[in-house]
Amino acid sequence: MKLNLKQSFIQELPADPILENSRRQVKNACFSYVTPKQTSAPKILHVSDEMSQALGISEADIQNETFANIFTGNKVLTNTQPYAMCYGGHQFGNWAGQLGDGRAINLFQVEHHNKLWTVQLKGAGETPYSRSADGLAVLRSSIREYLCSEAMHHLGVPTTRALSLALSGDEVLRDMLYDGNSAYEKGAIVSRIAPSFLRFGSFEIFAARQDHETLKTLTNYTIKQHFPNLGDPSKETYIQFFSEVAQRTRDMIIHWQRVGFVHGVMNTDNMSILGLTIDYGPYGWLEGFDFGWTPNTTDKQHKRYRYGNQPNIGLWNLYQLANALFPLIEEVEPLEAILEQYKSDFEKKSLAMMKTKLGLEKQDDKDDILVQDLEDALVLSETDMTLFFRLLSQFKKGDAKGGLDLVKESFYVPNEISDAVAQQWRDWFERYNSRLIKEVLSDAERQSKMNTVNPKYVLRNYMAQLAIDDANKGDYEQINELFQLLKRPYDEQPKYEKWFAKRPDWARHKVGCSMLSCSS
Ligand code: AMP
Ligand code: MG
Repeated sequence: MKLNLKQSFIQELPADPILENSRRQVKNACFSYVTPKQTSAPKILHVSDEMSQALGISEADIQNETFANIFTGNKVLTNTQPYAMCYGGHQFGNWAGQLGDGRAINLFQVEHHNKLWTVQLKGAGETPYSRSADGLAVLRSSIREYLCSEAMHHLGVPTTRALSLALSGDEVLRDMLYDGNSAYEKGAIVSRIAPSFLRFGSFEIFAARQDHETLKTLTNYTIKQHFPNLGDPSKETYIQFFSEVAQRTRDMIIHWQRVGFVHGVMNTDNMSILGLTIDYGPYGWLEGFDFGWTPNTTDKQHKRYRYGNQPNIGLWNLYQLANALFPLIEEVEPLEAILEQYKSDFEKKSLAMMKTKLGLEKQDDKDDILVQDLEDALVLSETDMTLFFRLLSQFKKGDAKGGLDLVKESFYVPNEISDAVAQQWRDWFERYNSRLIKEVLSDAERQSKMNTVNPKYVLRNYMAQLAIDDANKGDYEQINELFQLLKRPYDEQPKYEKWFAKRPDWARHKVGCSMLSCSS
C-alpha cells in the first residue's frame, strides 16, 4: 500500500514529550504519540469503496492482509507515528476538563486528489486520555458508526466518513444499560476519515488552561490547513474563522433537522471545527415526528439534546468556542454579532429548508405559519417523519381532499385518527393546496424536487439493530445490504421497498431501537 503521506498535524503542532502510555493531564501539547493495541484475530467486515478510492487504496491493497493489520492497529505503517489528540469539552452543560482521544487513535494524514485526509481508528486501545476506560469499542456501536456516517454523507449531510469496519477478535466487557449487568461483547474497530478531527474542545482546553500560546499555534494551523481562504492569521482572520465555524455548524444542524437526525450527545468535544457530524454514539432517527425526542438514555431526564433543541445547543456550543477564541481576539462585539447572526440566519435558513421539503419555491409572507401549522399537525398523532414527507410529494395540485388519504400510511395508528385531528389535517391540506397555486412547477416537477430533499430511506434505529443482531451471530450480509441501500437514499429502489416502512411494533421499546446508552 503506497499512500501519499502529508503529516502536517504532528509536524507543525506541539507534541507531548512523554511517550509512556499512562493516564495523565497533558499540558502545552496538541497530541500524544501512542501505539495501537495488538488485536488477536483482526477480520475486516466491510470496506467503503468510495473512501478507499478517495485515499488512493486499491482493491488489491484491500485484499492484502496488511490492510487488515493496519486498519485494526496491529501494524503501524512505515514512516507514520500514530497519535491521540488532546482536547477538553463541556459535557451536558458543564466544563469537564481534559477529555481527549480516549478510544481514538490517528494513524496518519494522506493527501490524494488534492484533498487532505486524516485516518483514525476508533476502538484501537488505550491512550493517555482514556481516563478510567479501556479505549475499545464494541461491534454494535461500530456498526452504527460505520453505517450511519456513510449514510449521512449520501444524504448530503456534512460528516466524518468511514473506510472500514473490522472485528478485533477480542472480547470487550460492557454494562450496556448501566444496570450492573456487564457482559462480554465482540470488540470492533472502525477506521474513520475526515479532513480533520479537531473539535470545539480542542480549542477550549488551551483557553481553560490559559495556554494562549498553544491556542494561537493551533488556531493558526487550523486556518492555514482548513480555512486557507481566510488568509494570514490576524485578529480579523480569527473573527472570520469563528464566523465560518458558526455558519458551518448552522448548516450542519439544519441538515440534521431536515432528515430527522438526532445526534444525542452534542457536547462541545463532539462538535467538529469543520462543521461535520462527528462521534456517532447514541444517535437516532426520528420515526414519529417529535421535537422532544432524544435517543440517549443518559439524557432522558433533561433531554438537553432532544431533536427540537439541537439548533439552540449549536448556539450554546458556539458561545463556548467564542469564549475559547476570545484571548486571541480580545473584543466581545464581533463575537456577539456572529452569535446573533447565527440566530437570525438559523430562522431564515430553517424556513427555507422546510419550504423545500414542501416543494415551495415562491415567496409568501404566510409560509412560516403554514410550516408551523404543519409541525403542529404532525404531532397530533404519531406520524412517521420520513414516510410523511415522501408521501406528501405525491400531492396533486387542486386535490386538497385527497391529501389526508395520501399521507395516512405515515400515521402509526391510522384507524385511530379522531375526527378533530382529521379536520385539522383537512384544513391544512386546503391551505397547502391554495399556496401551491402560486407555484409554477407541475406536480411531477415538484415531486422530483421534493424527492431530492426528503429521503426515502434513512438508517432507522431498528434497521441498524437488525444488522447488529445478525452480526453478533456471525452473519454480516445485512450490513452490506444497508450500506448499499443507504448509498442512494433519495432514489426509488424497488428491491428495497421493505425498508420504506414504519418502525415495526416489536422495535418500539427494544434496546438499541428506541433507547441507547453511551457505553460503546
Ligand atoms: P463521547 O461522549 O462518547 O464522545 O466520549 C467522551 C470522552 O470519553 C472522550 O474523551 C472519549 O475518548 C472518552 N471515551 C469514551 N469511551 C471510551 C472508552 N471505551 N475508552 C476510553 N475512552 C473513552
Ligand atoms: Mg466524543
